[in-house]
Amino acid sequence: MKITSEKIKDIFIKIADVLIENKNYLTELDAAIGDADHGINMARGFTKVKEKIEPNGFKNNSDLVKTVAMTLISTVGGASGPLYGTAFLNISKVIPDSDFDIDSLINIGETVIEGIQRLGKAQQGEKTMLDTIIPVVNSLRESKGKGLSLERALEECKKAAEEGMKATIPLQATKGRASYLGERSKGHQDPGATSSYLIIKVIVDELISEME
Ligand code: ADP
Ligand code: MG
Repeated sequence: MKITSEKIKDIFIKIADVLIENKNYLTELDAAIGDADHGINMARGFTKVKEKIEPNGFKNNSDLVKTVAMTLISTVGGASGPLYGTAFLNISKVIPDSDFDIDSLINIGETVIEGIQRLGKAQQGEKTMLDTIIPVVNSLRESKGKGLSLERALEECKKAAEEGMKATIPLQATKGRASYLGERSKGHQDPGATSSYLIIKVIVDELISEME
């Protein structure tokens, strides 16, 4: 499928709106196991992203995504700012301008994981955003193996994202601020895993609607 910079811009504006809508929810999750700023951080960063991209045209997808990444790096703050910033910066290096297929999505997912891990050194199961993202990429690879359609693969990876997010609830955090709580971090959903789910859900729903 072909996805224009205009469409990607729409997707980022929708992501921004969803994160801004969920500002209090994300901050409440962070209040339980962190310092109660994740929603504030994400809403601040994505408000700025909207301001930066809404009035402008971009010469290609890479240029647009790079602008988003740099804006996040300079405005989100916390642990999540550099992590999301690096993730989007890596996406800007591999995002295609013409045809998107399952391989481009897997490629994008892999570079996101690589960037987040290079910076944050977390593995799956440490109660972070990676607990949402890694299952998504695994699901895409499985769907490719099974020869599923792109639409089915997108539906499946959205389920994997939601399951991964919910699977953070019983985990003990061993990375990031929540790790200071030790055992007491158990029983709460990770804020970063939740923002990652919200972002992935928008992307998947928008790509599916583009296919219909
Ligand atoms: P801070 O923890 O500095 O206040 P935020 O509250 O904005 O930053 O973000 C917290 C989220 O960042 C966590 O819920 C977790 O998902 C994510 N995170 C923290 N450390 C790491 C890491 N090393 N690797 C991946 N994600 C991490
Ligand atoms: Mg925080």
